[in-house]
Amino acid sequence: MPKSLYAGIRDVPDFPRPGILFKDITPLLLDPTLFRRATQLLLEPVRSQQIDKIVAIESRGFIFGAPLAMELGAGLVPARKKGKLPWKTHQVEYALEYGTDTIEIHRDAIRRGERVLIVDDLLATGGTASATVQAVERAGGVIVGVSVLIELKDLDGRSKLDGTEIHTVLSYPLAPGE
Ligand code: AMP
Repeated sequence: MPKSLYAGIRDVPDFPRPGILFKDITPLLLDPTLFRRATQLLLEPVRSQQIDKIVAIESRGFIFGAPLAMELGAGLVPARKKGKLPWKTHQVEYALEYGTDTIEIHRDAIRRGERVLIVDDLLATGGTASATVQAVERAGGVIVGVSVLIELKDLDGRSKLDGTEIHTVLSYPLAPGE
């Protein structure tokens, strides 16, 4: 039986702040078999769909977004936190537990009507992904779905992405027997 992908995720308590249980994907990235398997499982549900652009969310979304874009023959668009992109952007502000953050994509990254898959490592409250959906829609893109390696189900990120197809590979808390 192949080593479970779950074995590649390390729980780090109280990072980056007290009370956060950080899901560290770097052990998975160290193991080429696990990394390849994770990429294949992310690809599986979208392989047969027409996808023009992958929008990958800073920064761990870039790691999974890049191989998906190459496999699907799609362009790769970085979605970044405010002030990091050099060209004109669409910006969407979203609420954090304390304060706000802003996600940006380049204005020339997506043409009207293009079909877009959003990729990140992890879905928690859904704030980042839903802001990215809005930025893509502002650019005239059509959302095919949101693909993440890990979903933290208790934080109910799906409720912020109502009507959007969501694909996840690993989810926590674990089901009995996982
Ligand atoms: P959210 O906007 O709450 O869905 O948070 C998702 C973003 O924050 C993703 O880009 C994740 O990489 C990061 N993130 C949030 N919570 C965690 C966590 N517990 N472990 C690792 N990354 C996290």
